[in-house]
Amino acid sequence: MHCPQCKGYRLEPKLLEPDLLAASCKKCGGALLSLLNYRHWSEHHSAVHEVEKVEGLRVESGGDEVDDNHTAQLCPKCGRMMTKFRIGLENNNRIDLCSGCDEAWLDNGEWRLLKQLELHEKLPKIFTDEWQRNIRQQRQQQLVKSKYIALFGDEDFSKVDEFKNWLDQHPDKAEIKQYLIINYD
Ligand SMILES: [Zn+2]
Ligand SMILES: [Zn+2]
Repeated sequence: MHCPQCKGYRLEPKLLEPDLLAASCKKCGGALLSLLNYRHWSEHHSAVHEVEKVEGLRVESGGDEVDDNHTAQLCPKCGRMMTKFRIGLENNNRIDLCSGCDEAWLDNGEWRLLKQLELHEKLPKIFTDEWQRNIRQQRQQQLVKSKYIALFGDEDFSKVDEFKNWLDQHPDKAEIKQYLIINYD
């Protein structure tokens, strides 16, 4: 198999964890991870890893960089288009998945990022509609919020927000809203 990012580079066996094998590109550091391998690993691995070396392969040691490819990517195995799944709200990284082959492409550093976010043990969750929908909704809320912050300014926005939080908890919320609407319409 060849790297989907680097022309002419083969994918070679590489351990993401002592007992989690992937196929990685030397040039870009990306790795193709079989979800079959992954599931086996996530069900069987122990939380504490003492072994660093298996069959002469070293576990990925970390730099700090995390890459993310922005181009549409073809599956190195079957050549079909992979689908991108956003990891979370706080970063823009996306993992490519070929649902046909059940293989995920992790760009350089993305496995480490998953570990930092404590998502490495729940990788398949990222590929669910629910996870993706949740991220979209939260991003939408953030957009709306930043629009109003820009409109009101920080200080006034935090006053309004404080009032909103107070109102949300209030047993007479509906009546208070009604009162406000009647008076300010
Ligand atoms: Zn590559
Ligand atoms: Zn494929």
